[in-house]
Amino acid sequence: MDVPERTDYIVVGAGIAGLRAAIALAESGSVLVVTKEQLAESNTAYAQGGIAVAMSGEEDVALHLLDTLNAGDGLVDRAAAKVLVSQGPGRVAELLEWGTAFDREGESGGGNLLVTREGAHSLPRILHANGDATGREIAQSLQRHAKAIRNILLMEWTTTVELIVDCSAGRRVIGMTLMDADGKLHRVYAKAVLLASGGAGQVYSDTTNPQVATGDGIAMAYRAGAEVSDMEFFQFHPTALSLPGAPRFLLSEALRGEGAYLRNARGERFMERYHPLLELAPRDVVARAITREGFAEPGADAKPVYLDMRHLSMSGGEHKDLKKRVPGISGFLARYGLELERDLIPVYPAAHYLMGGVRTDVHGRTSLPGLYAAGEAACTGVHGANRLASNSLLEGLVFGALAAESMVQDAVPPGRVPEVLTLDQPSVEGAQQSADAIECWIAALRAMMWKNAGLLRDEAGLLVARTSLAEMAATMPQGTARRAIEARNLHQVACLIVEAALGRKESRGAHYRNDYPTRDDVHFAAHSVMQSGRLRFEPATSSAGLQPASR
Ligand SMILES: Cc1cc2nc3c(=O)[nH]c(=O)nc-3n(C[C@H](O)[C@H](O)[C@H](O)COP(=O)(O)OP(=O)(O)OC[C@H]3O[C@@H](n4cnc5c(N)ncnc54)[C@H](O)[C@@H]3O)c2cc1C
Repeated sequence: MDVPERTDYIVVGAGIAGLRAAIALAESGSVLVVTKEQLAESNTAYAQGGIAVAMSGEEDVALHLLDTLNAGDGLVDRAAAKVLVSQGPGRVAELLEWGTAFDREGESGGGNLLVTREGAHSLPRILHANGDATGREIAQSLQRHAKAIRNILLMEWTTTVELIVDCSAGRRVIGMTLMDADGKLHRVYAKAVLLASGGAGQVYSDTTNPQVATGDGIAMAYRAGAEVSDMEFFQFHPTALSLPGAPRFLLSEALRGEGAYLRNARGERFMERYHPLLELAPRDVVARAITREGFAEPGADAKPVYLDMRHLSMSGGEHKDLKKRVPGISGFLARYGLELERDLIPVYPAAHYLMGGVRTDVHGRTSLPGLYAAGEAACTGVHGANRLASNSLLEGLVFGALAAESMVQDAVPPGRVPEVLTLDQPSVEGAQQSADAIECWIAALRAMMWKNAGLLRDEAGLLVARTSLAEMAATMPQGTARRAIEARNLHQVACLIVEAALGRKESRGAHYRNDYPTRDDVHFAAHSVMQSGRLRFEPATSSAGLQPASR
């Protein structure tokens, strides 16, 4: 497939945010959607538990807003959260129209939509599909819909390398450099570029995220001069499988929603010591509780912590069919000889979701004209310091569609190609390391981040991380191999996380500092903002009206 030199709109990423935006953009022009691997590979496709949406009226919407604000620990942008919860039902209704088969009551599946409850939600409002394969079902229906639209060109195995910035016009983003499946570089020019490139879980050695989640969009935007925000807030999912030799497979929050207990190595349920909502406490609380129970004695080796569903399979003589409710999780565990009905399942937290990202307003506008962001790559402030479970699929739908609207509204003709491109573009020249050497470098970075900038942080560890990152810069993989590009992006994202985490001298939401264990509203009721090497904190409400400097 030929890469076009010009298109009206470029969308980076084919997860929920990218595809939803592309479907809307296609009504106004040609859209090039690029994705690093096959369409099926994205965080969206791995989402298990479901999508949170208030489908039963205004009271439900108000409660969804309240739960979102509470989970975010004082840092949620209220305006963004209001948009999320109030526009959510309409966007999910569109998905239903486009054939997304959420689970329904009744044997034939023809009844009312089934809902479940997850941590920190005050009532059941999570729609799911095929039990625990919600993301795949949504992704497939969006892909079917997008493929049928003539204006959308989907290019798989195409990696974005850098943004093209026209410095003669107030640093307007006018396109990007792409690398096709054969490793050939192309420049593509457009009226507007949307970063829907997802999160960055791969910056940590232990993560639920697939290999594509390397924070490319955030790193590219930052290098181009855009503001990024709230990078210190990385959510660690409390219950990823922790079995030697097995991947850190996610054991969805929905399991605790169905009534699973957490037990320590002594077999005790321990959550009552940490939060009144017990196993359904906010994720950061549960993740830290598991870490503490796992290391009950200082200096001791980690002890296992377990998820226990054995009581549910036979509760009150009534058999709960877990294999039917969560077929994907049950099937995965069976490969390792484990059964939810019979066994204690060893779990431990893993990096899961980045609340921070490219700073945008609710319309996806970044601080650079021509550049937009939506989904996990973006930071509207909607999650504050901690995302409410199952709010991120909804975020992709709602803010993907809104970003498309503003891209069309703001559009200027696909510009002239500037004669002189002044780019903050790191050299892609240089001796190419072997694939093994690049993997080794990446593995060292990820392990270092897990150890020094993970779930529990302090100044000493973060300073070690800062120094290590500076040293690693000297041996940074060069060249245009995809893994070398990803290595540079991971390094960039790691630097942003470490600097923001050093700056926030308090504990709030997912950011926990052992040396500053309490929340400090006097100094830090604010979003961290980084741009061109400088970190500042801005009062929490200020992002609501963010506008590009010039358009
Ligand atoms: C295991 C797991 C379970 C989850 N469960 C839930 C859940 O139950 N409910 C919920 O709400 N959320 C859940 N989440 C979070 C949610 O899935 C994500 O936050 C959301 O899907 C992000 O969507 P997105 O469109 O922003 O990005 P993604 O779906 O991650 O898509 C990013 C896209 O960008 C592409 N890309 C990245 N970099 C480049 C590049 N340089 N060039 C070209 N393409 C690029 C990728 O290939 C991909 O197509 C889960 C996440 C994981 C990992």
